[in-house]
Amino acid sequence: MKTKYIFVTGGVLSSLGKGVAAASIGNILESYGYHITIVKLDPYLNVDPGTMSPLQHGEVFVTDDGAETDLDLGHYERFTKTITSQKNNWTAGKIYYSVIEKERRGDYLGKTVQVIPHVTDEIKSAITSLDGKYDVIIIEIGGTVGDIESLPFLEAIRQIGLSSEDNDSLFIHLTLVPFIKTAGELKTKPTQHSVKALREIGIQPDILLCRAEIPLPEEIKEKIALFTNVKYEDVVSANDVDTIYKIPLVFKEEGMGDLLLKKLDLKMKKDDSSSWKKWVDKIYSLENEVTISIVGKYVSLSDSYKSLFEALFHGGVENNIKVKFDLIESDTLLDDDLEKRFENSDGILVPGGFGIRGIEGMIKAVEHARIKNIPYFGICLGMQTASVEFVRNVAGLKNAHSAEFDKSTDQRIFLKLKELIGIEKMGHNMRLGQFSCSLKEGTLCRDIYKDEKIMERHRHRYEFNPEFEEVLESNGMVISGKNKERNLVEMIELKGHPWFIGCQFHPELKSRPMNPHPLFISFIGAAKKFKGLSL
Ligand code: GLN
Repeated sequence: MKTKYIFVTGGVLSSLGKGVAAASIGNILESYGYHITIVKLDPYLNVDPGTMSPLQHGEVFVTDDGAETDLDLGHYERFTKTITSQKNNWTAGKIYYSVIEKERRGDYLGKTVQVIPHVTDEIKSAITSLDGKYDVIIIEIGGTVGDIESLPFLEAIRQIGLSSEDNDSLFIHLTLVPFIKTAGELKTKPTQHSVKALREIGIQPDILLCRAEIPLPEEIKEKIALFTNVKYEDVVSANDVDTIYKIPLVFKEEGMGDLLLKKLDLKMKKDDSSSWKKWVDKIYSLENEVTISIVGKYVSLSDSYKSLFEALFHGGVENNIKVKFDLIESDTLLDDDLEKRFENSDGILVPGGFGIRGIEGMIKAVEHARIKNIPYFGICLGMQTASVEFVRNVAGLKNAHSAEFDKSTDQRIFLKLKELIGIEKMGHNMRLGQFSCSLKEGTLCRDIYKDEKIMERHRHRYEFNPEFEEVLESNGMVISGKNKERNLVEMIELKGHPWFIGCQFHPELKSRPMNPHPLFISFIGAAKKFKGLSL
């Protein structure tokens, strides 16, 4: 199979939604019957985003094979059928690391190692390593054209474009056409400059995708075309929409689908956006609303919980209900009147997180949900805080804690994986990627999944200490899911509570619009019931 490439670059400024644009292009090509995947090239020097604070970088998206990646891979998986892997995200750090390793091994045979050709060749082979498996690979280049860091990446894609046959590669550039209120005008100059910067390094865009508050009028498109050396019909308007899931449909309406087929010389094998459109239409028909309180430590940046918000939203659509997020900085709960704070909550969720800040606030939130019978969903750190709360307040072991937060306590409910099973290194010393979980018969979890064995994605360092399993179970908490291979606790649920589940993995990473995750469907259903709405 000959693979074609689409390169997506960005200009003017960041946060224009390049990831969603790339994902939407993938969605359109799939609707025409093509097998695609999407790769993100990130120009920063971290080897992966795993070491960055979510407040800096947003969520770390984890793949089945345990790669810690950029959150755009979440968009790719939610908008298309692609299952991403280690090969779908390359940072400058990962590329340079590999070049330097090769240099140390002597692979370059006495040559001077340089950005061109050695770094650019490494980038090219990262891209081409997926060749033959897909009809089209979409490659999104992080950052903005004009950044020093992105130069080797742009040079590499320029070379691929040059060596490709006609219609085998396509350059799409996303820019901003700002509307200046005082002048009452859309301004094309930033787009002109951004394309100029791209052309200076040898890349002539084939299609311009122009973000604007309103659809571009004809004369603006003409002006952009004239100054950027792009044909009028190849300037596509990407105006703001109220839900990102509408974007593939809007792009198609704007003629993007036809342009992709024409420029890549592909036939429309089928044209099937109907189920996607039906799902998007459903968003506009949702009645009522439930409020989910998210008690976390990275709530000041909504990108930190990207997949979580999307999964809750998917669960809401499935339940025909809007989901309102009540974001709570867990620290603030310590001196709060919880009764009042959670007065309007129909569900409480503690998401994943690292480090001690905010932990006691989360534990208070769990206690409140447990006592007041409010649906509770604990994800990773949220399962850990739920276990600690239970062992402290129900089993009466007041010093209970995770070894992550209190190394000296003799009641360590969570232990570092390596201490537990004697493995020094496992991934990046974390349990990363997909692992199996066997569900106990007769439990709520088993009922929700309607399956005995499930696979879910992990990203954590600490595991439930088996010495305390008996303490949990004899006090009324059920261990409903376990990884049998390593005898690790994966899921817990509280007997007698309407909906109280903790899981050690991240189910939000596997929720898709038309295939919402069962735990999120069930949780939103429980919130609906809590509010007194019929299911
Ligand atoms: N900090 C915890 C651990 O490392 C939980 C991690 C998470 O929530 N992803 O085990």
